[in-house]
Amino acid sequence: MIPSVLERMPENLAEIGDSEELEIVSCPVCGNREKEAVYEGFQPFCVVRCRACGLSYLSPRKTEAALLRKYSEDDYFEGEGTGYADYIAQEEALRKTFRRFLSNLRIRGITGGDLLEVGCGYGFLLDEARGFFQRRTGMDFSRRAVELAGKRADRVFEGGIDQIPADEKYDCIIATQVIEHVYQPKAFMKKLTGRLRKGGRMVIATPDMDSFWRRLMGQRWPSFKIPEHVLFFNRGTLSSLMSDAGLTGVQPIPYPHAFPLSLIAAKLHMPFPSGFGGISLWLPATTIALCGVLPDE
Ligand SMILES: [Zn+2]
Repeated sequence: MIPSVLERMPENLAEIGDSEELEIVSCPVCGNREKEAVYEGFQPFCVVRCRACGLSYLSPRKTEAALLRKYSEDDYFEGEGTGYADYIAQEEALRKTFRRFLSNLRIRGITGGDLLEVGCGYGFLLDEARGFFQRRTGMDFSRRAVELAGKRADRVFEGGIDQIPADEKYDCIIATQVIEHVYQPKAFMKKLTGRLRKGGRMVIATPDMDSFWRRLMGQRWPSFKIPEHVLFFNRGTLSSLMSDAGLTGVQPIPYPHAFPLSLIAAKLHMPFPSGFGGISLWLPATTIALCGVLPDE
């Protein structure tokens, strides 16, 4: 079923939103135009599924230029509404999540050497990665994030992957909660794999479209962070993206996620007694994380 909102595009875009900031797209991974609506309640946006490769994505979506303006705003991580209003409040839960994830990487021999984290935010993962990697480099589009992360890492670049010196390569690249924001995922993966040393590891983590939580919550699933999230992967579609980028031996890494109990209550619209603010809860299977290797040959 092609949703009515798509059939009316693009000439009637002006009726439903800011036409200059909206675009209808084909599948960002395989390029196929055939799609079916999955969730239509985010108008003027719509979550659709590609009939060819099965990827879920946002179309119509905001243009990349419109979103990049937002990400570079200093208050993105702390602002109201679409930014990370409670990012700082989540610090302890995020640190716990990253510590456990890094341990899961170490068990599998994925730590050590030079680390690059793409989309490092305030640098909590980079900070926790001390002791897991010899050198920790980050990058982010937000100037404020770069300032704060700079104190928690060896180096942090502001902007995209092109800001990193051309000859620099890494033993491990981690991008957690980033790929769902990316407009050209194939080009992005190609750039990233170009920064891996032979035998290096790429670790990508993103909300799992096939998770129990998405099935349970449907349109209220917190990872439908619209319009910032434009891609919704499951294990199959993420694994294909990584393999197509030239990575081999793509395997899952457990990524249990700790959330502050207060945040969970807010998301479920439940009253929350004060005094429990510091407690966090481990939720399994909210996120898929996959690791692939750049072949040696
Ligand atoms: Zn597709």
